[in-house]
Amino acid sequence: MSIFSQVQEAAPIEVFNLVKLFNEDNNPSKVNLSVGAYRTEEGKPYYIPVVKKAEELVLQDTVNHEYLPILGFEPFTKAASQLLLGDIIKRQEEGTIFGVQSISGSGALRVGGEFLVKHLNCTTFYYSTPTWENHHLVFMNSGFKEAKTYRYWDEEKRSIDCNGLYEDLLNAPEHSVIILHGCAHNPTGLDLTEEQWKKVAEIMKERELIPFFDNAYQGFASGDVEKDAWSVRYFLDQGFEFLCSQSFSKNVGLYNERAGNLTFVLNSVDKIKAVKSQVTMIVRGMYSNPPNHGARIVSTILNNDELKKEWLDTLKIMTNRIKNMRKVLRENLEELGTIGKWNHVTNQTGMFSYTGLSASHVDYIQEKYHIYMLRSGRINICGLNMNNIKYVAEAITDALK
Ligand code: PMP
Repeated sequence: MSIFSQVQEAAPIEVFNLVKLFNEDNNPSKVNLSVGAYRTEEGKPYYIPVVKKAEELVLQDTVNHEYLPILGFEPFTKAASQLLLGDIIKRQEEGTIFGVQSISGSGALRVGGEFLVKHLNCTTFYYSTPTWENHHLVFMNSGFKEAKTYRYWDEEKRSIDCNGLYEDLLNAPEHSVIILHGCAHNPTGLDLTEEQWKKVAEIMKERELIPFFDNAYQGFASGDVEKDAWSVRYFLDQGFEFLCSQSFSKNVGLYNERAGNLTFVLNSVDKIKAVKSQVTMIVRGMYSNPPNHGARIVSTILNNDELKKEWLDTLKIMTNRIKNMRKVLRENLEELGTIGKWNHVTNQTGMFSYTGLSASHVDYIQEKYHIYMLRSGRINICGLNMNNIKYVAEAITDALK
């Protein structure tokens, strides 16, 4: 008899399970379109040159491995919040906007979620259908009682179901937390227009809903970090109080370094100290102190004009490659006469395309062609390159026949 005898096995995590199956697959034509990570034209992970440079500077400057403060390395959190919200120096000085270093985007959501439950007595959160598959687990583990969804993807039109979205927000109980993808919505690749964001803000204000922005792809939608921050900056301008998670996994390529930031926007100076002290308690009880390396790399880049420019240029190169792959995939599908319309592939932004393929199409393609994608039909466009794109288009064509 073991003390572990009652433990039931959890379902595998789809995306990491696919990576494992892909790695074990010996077929030379195999293609991995599953995990959300950038790939070069050669199909390789990308160690961004400016990151390497910054890393060398970090190592030169490192004299010890003492603990960071519980709320993180301030040059990093300040620069990260500025990258997100623009010219906020005055607000940072008065303390009504501050960042908390986090275990990447996931950790920011988790700490923010727990804060909202414990200190704002929030019980219900909303996420889009579909959304990043981890939102549910992270927010439930934060202590929320109820997960609800708002409509987002219109399967038939392969575009956003705006009216459904507005209606669901209008019906949300006051004080619900609404998870909003700041840009490059995962998995659909479809973002609201400025007008639609304005409408969402109007409803949220009227219904007293609490925005929790999730910004995991700043720069990955348009190639321009300023443009991609429009939604969250609009909410700031409208006087909302909110939380926003940031991840540097994708846009700086620091996936395993877990560099993230959780920005708090408050409208009154009275509660700054109380809020900070309670976030401190949450972090203290969860993992005590954040890690150093990734945050130093990001801070080195963001606080140095030359390195920052190089990083911004690299982001443009990466997003241009993605845009080009969208175009070529669509062209290939149209040339092959693949059943259906394919304009959504080029209308979508960010890393992902929600192709509209069903789970049975995905299974068929995986089995016959050794191409790996999520069963929702989401593909990581970065996994495409000139060597495999025609093969992928042919596989899709065949599956839809
Ligand atoms: N939010 C969204 C929407 C994401 O897609 C991801 C990464 N897949 C994250 C948050 C968090 O990623 P990380 O913890 O690596 O920063």
